[in-house]
Amino acid sequence: PGERGTCHGGSYWSSHATSRGGGAAERDGGGCAGRRAELKFVFGSSAVQALDLVDRRSVTLISSPSGRRVYQVLGSSGRTYTCLASCHYCSCPAFAFSVLRKGDSLLCKHLLAVYLSQITRTCQQLSVSDKQLTDILSVEKTQEA
Ligand SMILES: [Zn+2]
Repeated sequence: PGERGTCHGGSYWSSHATSRGGGAAERDGGGCAGRRAELKFVFGSSAVQALDLVDRRSVTLISSPSGRRVYQVLGSSGRTYTCLASCHYCSCPAFAFSVLRKGDSLLCKHLLAVYLSQITRTCQQLSVSDKQLTDILSVEKTQEA
């Protein structure tokens, strides 16, 4: 496990990006119905929750001068999770459990929200110094432990 999930980029999400809001993930006249059904089966309600996160502008792209780019997603519980879109990682417990350990999900709602916001260009942008970004990542590491 762990090798899946590298091929669900562009076309699928861009078909949703034009009609986001109001349960867009639930009904879609796109040309890849079979694949869509498969994705919905895998993601379940997290697709709807991810759209909700995007709508509430909960996704922030944080970049530093050295070129590091991480996403932070403000979860519904008020906790902030760090997502690394480049290597398909999120720091939330659901990702660790369902994706990494059990392998029965491809991603969590936070990562889904990150990918959606990349396409719809709705993420907040924040530039920080390298030290600040290091602090962000270090804090996240400490909370994990
Ligand atoms: Zn997550």
